[in-house]
Amino acid sequence: MRNLLKLLTVSIMLTSALFAQEKPPADVRFSAGLLDKSIDPCNDFYAYACSKWKAQNPVPADRPSWGRFNELQQRGEYIVRDILEKASADRPGRSSNEQKIGDYYASCMDESAIEKAGARPLEQDFQSIVAIQSKAELPKEMVRLHREGTDVLFGFDSGSDFKNASQIIAEVDQGGLGMPDRDYYFKDDPKSVELRKKYVEHVAKMFVLLGDDPGKAAAAAKVVMEIETGLAKGALDQTSRRDPQKIYHKLSNQELAALSPAFNWTTYFEGVGAPRFDSLNVSEPDFIKNMQEVLSAHSLDDWKTYLRWHTVHNNARLLSTAFVNENFDFYARTMQGTKELRPRWKRCVGYTNGDLGDLVGQVYVQQTFGAEGKERTLAMVGALEKALGEDIKSLPWMGADTKTQALVKLQAITNRIGYTDKWRDYSALQIVRGDALGNSQRANQNDMKRRLNKIGQPLDKRDWEYPPMTVNANYDPNQNNITFPAGILQPPFYDNHADDAMNFGGIGAVIGHELTHGFDDEGSQFDADGNLRDWWTANDKKQFEERTGCIKDQYANFVAVDDLKLNGKLTLGENTADNGGLRIAYMALLNRFAGKEPAPIDGLSAEQRFFLGWANVWCNNQTDALTRMLVTIDPHSPSKYRVNGPLSNMPEFREAYHCPATAPMVNQNACKVW
Ligand SMILES: [Zn+2]
Repeated sequence: MRNLLKLLTVSIMLTSALFAQEKPPADVRFSAGLLDKSIDPCNDFYAYACSKWKAQNPVPADRPSWGRFNELQQRGEYIVRDILEKASADRPGRSSNEQKIGDYYASCMDESAIEKAGARPLEQDFQSIVAIQSKAELPKEMVRLHREGTDVLFGFDSGSDFKNASQIIAEVDQGGLGMPDRDYYFKDDPKSVELRKKYVEHVAKMFVLLGDDPGKAAAAAKVVMEIETGLAKGALDQTSRRDPQKIYHKLSNQELAALSPAFNWTTYFEGVGAPRFDSLNVSEPDFIKNMQEVLSAHSLDDWKTYLRWHTVHNNARLLSTAFVNENFDFYARTMQGTKELRPRWKRCVGYTNGDLGDLVGQVYVQQTFGAEGKERTLAMVGALEKALGEDIKSLPWMGADTKTQALVKLQAITNRIGYTDKWRDYSALQIVRGDALGNSQRANQNDMKRRLNKIGQPLDKRDWEYPPMTVNANYDPNQNNITFPAGILQPPFYDNHADDAMNFGGIGAVIGHELTHGFDDEGSQFDADGNLRDWWTANDKKQFEERTGCIKDQYANFVAVDDLKLNGKLTLGENTADNGGLRIAYMALLNRFAGKEPAPIDGLSAEQRFFLGWANVWCNNQTDALTRMLVTIDPHSPSKYRVNGPLSNMPEFREAYHCPATAPMVNQNACKVW
């Protein structure tokens, strides 16, 4: 989901007005005072647990949403700002790492220099585009743009071979769109039609900022829209992209060339510095075939217009205020409903984390992550794995052969907690004080080189997807491992001072969620070694699909906003993981009690507190615009359903809160996979 991540972290702009007044965030621990006693937990548990928090925590003007994750993220931002400010003081004896993160941050914060430069930092990029003589030169130009981090035409990267996961191969993927997903180009409801109109206006405004006269800019924006709509025709939607069979096509270099003879792949691969290879994963051959048609349907001048747009679009965040504001206006205000630009320091903390994450992360973990945190988390992971094992053994619908395979897979999961054992190498990267945009482009070049150098190499399991201050967690089906960065191992997910029930409902259920991903509609197609291989008997697979079908239908009936319902198929994996994760965390909690029920706290039983622990991490407010956007591109359900969906399927919840059988929080047709 590179698109999604990129879009959400790039929604950006200016004003440092908030900077001085902002105070570090309040404590994020759970307190019983937050419960809304006027709401029956059996009617709407999410409202019972979160409505008070929601009333006290409106969406800040500079955000499209605000939830407990964000409280945690914000705390991390203050820690990182402190690290970066210290490193940016130019003093003798700074280490090379301090120079890099400090000067990167200082350059980003130097608003007046950035303001003075306007769009000049892109001058060379534009000259290079103007100088293209023929379409045959496009591959060479794409090399330059891709290395700088500009997304044009298609994506090129390295990744595990789906069917031979220990081997890293080259990957060509769809790409080159300015809107978040192919569906944005074709949906014909009034809101989508309006959004397309605004997108074209936005592209035109950016051209005007580059000095084009308005008439020429409007014509150019139309060309961009035509090309992108053409590319989008061949692209897959987010639901299809969750099916590994649809995005794995191992082709020889000759087969790739035959799909798009007009594009010289050899020139591109050599130029971009990829090690030699004979075959690769062309995730979506139809996209490449279609790309060839779009390439020939448009003139060279049209392509130059398209490249010029993506150049300014991808770099806007580090240009002068006018570009930053216009970029904010479309991507954050119109698309996500955000009212104000985030303060500059927060944006610069985000960019530094994005471009130099492992350098910042090394200092971050020294300051925040002790051995105790790692030990206790590992113990909890062990407890959850044990519970999942017991669950698998007791499943009434799964046969003995498949169970054996599932247990082998569970045993083989690797647990990565806190931070990586192998930090990324930035020694060749030059960070120059005063060159904010250049620093970011060079960081992208350095990172692309790192990723492409893996092609042809065996998988290195020490490579982490993101730096340790990230508030997130993941399961990688190709590596069969789970990753919990230090950033998430804090309250309210995990609290040294909280009781077991709260911690198992918080981080415990999140661990369970990640483990269950190995067994959701996507993860279950990969085996213990991370290879795409069917290890199920036909009958067990049928039973599994019946059960996941129940979850798909249940969630497809939930309303996200207005009359827009959730996409049951897009969210199936995440919903399965929420349901399974919560259930095995509950089993693990009972194992921990070993028959000895702890005394209630604040008048709440341990079982009741467990479900509050889960609800508590999902309290969240967000704009309707963002909800609308996420329904199309986000495989996760909105917070309310991440809480009420799984709980309504659990008899354990019903019992803990003494709900009558007919209560809204009791699903008459309860779904259960794991
Ligand atoms: Zn997940």
